[in-house]
Amino acid sequence: MALRGAVRAARGRWARPLSSAVTPAGTGDTIFALSSGPGRCGVAVIRASGPGSRGALQSLTGTPEIPPPRVMALRHIRDPQSAETLDRGLVVWFPGPRSFTGEDCAELHVHGGPAVVSGVLQALGRVPGLRPAEPGEFTLRAFRRGKLDLAAAEGLRDLLAARTEAQRRQALRHMEGELGRLCRRWSRALTQALAHLEAFIDFGEDEDVEEEVLRQVAVTVRALERDIRAQLRDGRRGELLRAGVRAVIAGPPNVGKSSLFNLLCRRPAAIVSPMAGTTRDVLEVTLDIGGYPLVLSDTAGLRHATDPVEHEGVTRARARLSQADLVLAVLDVTSVSPTPVALGAALAALEPPPGVPCVLVLNKADLLGGHGRSPSVTCGATPVTLLSCHTGQGLPELLEVLTQQLVQLCGDPLSGSPSLTQSRHSRHLGACAAALARFGRGDSGDSGDIGDSGDIGDLAVAAEQLRLARRELGRITGQVGAEEVLEIIFRDFCVGK
Ligand code: GDP
Repeated sequence: MALRGAVRAARGRWARPLSSAVTPAGTGDTIFALSSGPGRCGVAVIRASGPGSRGALQSLTGTPEIPPPRVMALRHIRDPQSAETLDRGLVVWFPGPRSFTGEDCAELHVHGGPAVVSGVLQALGRVPGLRPAEPGEFTLRAFRRGKLDLAAAEGLRDLLAARTEAQRRQALRHMEGELGRLCRRWSRALTQALAHLEAFIDFGEDEDVEEEVLRQVAVTVRALERDIRAQLRDGRRGELLRAGVRAVIAGPPNVGKSSLFNLLCRRPAAIVSPMAGTTRDVLEVTLDIGGYPLVLSDTAGLRHATDPVEHEGVTRARARLSQADLVLAVLDVTSVSPTPVALGAALAALEPPPGVPCVLVLNKADLLGGHGRSPSVTCGATPVTLLSCHTGQGLPELLEVLTQQLVQLCGDPLSGSPSLTQSRHSRHLGACAAALARFGRGDSGDSGDIGDSGDIGDLAVAAEQLRLARRELGRITGQVGAEEVLEIIFRDFCVGK
């Protein structure tokens, strides 16, 4: 190995270390907004953040006396110009940096009537130096002051949007910075490996810097790549849970697809009719099934349609089916033979996308008479549920099967390492793993196997791969390249958050 040559070639070619954080905002203005939801409510929370918060609090309470930090105090809230009392409410003073944004913050908890809220907001607008906040601006300021990283800000946004228990759990873990911590741990290991490699490049000819160092670096990088690939193998679980699992009800016409849709969403959202071919548009509703979000679609019956409108409905049904994460295949129990082979053939005729899990629903069980067919109907690995949309028989079993499928697809948001909830997380982590895989291939780009001898090829190239890998981790937390994604991340926040 031409190690010495590689050392010499690499000298002086290493990049500067990552800057530790995005520069804090230099904004001197103070923002305010209603942070609780709009509309009539018992208590409304109005927040201000920035250097003028203290003055604003003094102006609106009509006294220079500020309550002790983080202690609620009852005050009259006044218009600073007319001195008219607008309300009597609780005020809280959060001096920076121990506040949500890291800046001086004040909160006014007032009665939630629209006239009170608009009166207080107008009064704040009359305080010099204060202006209404943009959507997500409080969180953006918190990010810029290092109170939360980008992945945690995404977690906060998801927490505000969470509709189900599992979504809330996942979002909370992210908001509490678990993914950021994991990325920083990997990043620290990479930084250390890089430091050792750079020391070797610089001082490799000295007696006391052994080639053993290189072997250790290689071991660390291999272990990191393994961990990161394991995280990526977790699939799209986190993204599925955040966005909702797309489930499509598919089947021949008149088997009860719309009836099942209505039964699951507990309202007559879809038209049910004995005439085949009534459903043409794709109907969609988001449901909470066992704490997991299910985005359920009712589609046109899959058959050869001659009517052009129905034909379009079937085309849309097929398109929706091809994007499904889960298929609810519905058949009329009176028109299929209950053998695994016959059920398998009926299921295959629907052409569910390969690899996508299916649940087979045998509907109209009430027509079987008596207690319905024996529950031992099977169809390979596909769960089969006997149901009657008319009587509700079999609904608890179907909900149980659906919950199991959702758990399989989304995982338990409380166990294991934090899931990747955004496509950008997987993208950066994938790029990080790819850079680590290139480590050790040298310029030749061959095998990538790093021998125990510590032969890692061109050291300068290897070091550059570690820097690239570290940069990709930094992108997840916003340590690197945050400005490019800030707008995308913060545009979904509401005003006041
Ligand atoms: P789709 O065309 O597959 O969406 O089926 P629909 O939901 O429109 O139902 C077609 C017909 O089957 C309607 O007359 C429904 O009342 C009837 N139907 C649906 N579910 C059941 C059921 O569980 N039992 C019985 N007996 N009839 C049902």
